[in-house]
Amino acid sequence: MKIKKKILKKIHKIIKKNNTPFWLYKKSVILKQIKKLKKFDVIRFAQKSCSNINILKIIKKKKLKIDVVSLGEIERALIAGFSPKNDEIVFTSDIFDSETLLRIVNLNITVNIGSIDMIKQLGKISPGHNIWIRINPKFGYGHNRKTNTGGENSKHGIWNIKSAIKKIEKYKLKLSGIHIHIGSGVNLKNLKKVCKTMEKKVIEINKKINVISSGGGLLTPYKPNEKEINVKKHYKYWKNTKNKIEKFLNKKILLETEPGRFITSKSGLLISQVRAIKKTNKYKFILINAGFNDLMRPIMYGSYHNISVINKNNFKIKKKNSENVVIAGPICESGDIFTQKNNGNIITRNLPKIKVGDYIIFHDVGAYGASMSSNYNSRPLISEFLLTSKNKIKKIRRKQNIKELINLEII
Ligand SMILES: *Cc1c(COP(=O)(O)O)cnc(C)c1O
Repeated sequence: MKIKKKILKKIHKIIKKNNTPFWLYKKSVILKQIKKLKKFDVIRFAQKSCSNINILKIIKKKKLKIDVVSLGEIERALIAGFSPKNDEIVFTSDIFDSETLLRIVNLNITVNIGSIDMIKQLGKISPGHNIWIRINPKFGYGHNRKTNTGGENSKHGIWNIKSAIKKIEKYKLKLSGIHIHIGSGVNLKNLKKVCKTMEKKVIEINKKINVISSGGGLLTPYKPNEKEINVKKHYKYWKNTKNKIEKFLNKKILLETEPGRFITSKSGLLISQVRAIKKTNKYKFILINAGFNDLMRPIMYGSYHNISVINKNNFKIKKKNSENVVIAGPICESGDIFTQKNNGNIITRNLPKIKVGDYIIFHDVGAYGASMSSNYNSRPLISEFLLTSKNKIKKIRRKQNIKELINLEII
C-alpha cells in the first residue's frame, strides 16, 4: 500500500498519542483484495497470516471461511463468529496434540489431514468424522526454501495416498475434500502442474468428495518490480480442473482458494522510529526501535519490504534517495537487520538522508507481521491499529505490558 497524505495524517495522530513501534492496517485494502477472488466458490482465509480477531471479523463479515492450524486459532475463529458447521472452520495440520484433538472432536471441526497417524488418532475416537486430505504433490514452490511446502523435503501433506485411503476406510472417516498447497508464491507456470496433479489424484482416490482446495500462496508483490498474480488466469486454470473433476465424479463440487498474504499483506504498515545512527568502515547503520521480534520476515526469509522515511520535523515523506544504509533493530543479536539477503548477508538500501528521530515505515507487512512476532529479548508485543472504512483509527490490540510478559513464570 502506498502512503497517501490522508493516511500519513492518521499515522501522525497515532504517534502523538502512542509510542512507536506499532502496526497499522487499512481495512479498505483487505476488502479490495477479497473482491478480486470472488469467482471462487469459497475463499478460505489462512488465519496464520494475520490473526487479530478484529481482522477475522472483517473476513467473516465478507462470508469467507477460515483455515486454522492450532488450538489458539480455533478459539480465535470461534470468537470472531465462525461456526464449526459447513466446513466454515477447517483445521489443517500434520499432527494433533491431544488437547487440540479433543476440542476438534467436541466441536466436530473438519480436519484437513496431513499424516496417516492423524487418521488413526482421529478415527479411533471419532469414527465418521468429516475429513479432507492434504496431498503432497511430490513437488513444491516457495518464495523461499522455508515456504516451499511440497516435494520430498517437505514435512507437509500425505505422500502415500493408497495407505491413507486404506486407513480412512478402516476407521470409516468421511472423506469430503482434497487439498493441495504447494507453498507461497505460486505462479502460473507451476499452477498447471498442480491442477494436473489434483485431477489425477481425485481420479486415483475415486471418492465422492464435495470440495477441492487449491491452497494459498497467491503471489503478492513486495519489491517494486514484482507483480500480483493474475487472478483471472489462476481461476481459469482451476475452473477447468473443477469441470473435469465434476464430469468424472458426476456431481457438483466446490472450488476453494486459501490465501493468507494475498488478502492482508498490502494492508499493513509497521511504523518505527530511528533512535541512533552509527558508521563502521563499511556501513551506515540506521538503528530503529522495532526488531526482528516484531517483524521476522527479513531475518527469516531475507524478505524485502519497501521502506518510507518520514521527516520528524514536518512529518512529510522524504522523497529523494541519497544514501546507502543498513536498517537494523534493537535486538541483542547481529542478525537483527531488516535489509538482508536470505543467506543472511547484509545488503544496503538506497534511502533519503535519515536523521535520528525520523520515522521508518515498512510496507506490506499485514501478513506474517504481527502474527509472527515474539517476545524475544523480553520485548512486549506492540499495539495494532485499524483504519476503518469510515477513515477512523481503531485500536485493535494494545501493547503487552512487561508484567503480562513475565507473569507465567513461577517465582
Ligand atoms: C500458510 C498457508 C496458507 C497461506 O499461505 P499464503 O502464502 O499466506 O497465501 C494456505 N494454506 C495453508 C495450508 C498454509 O499452510
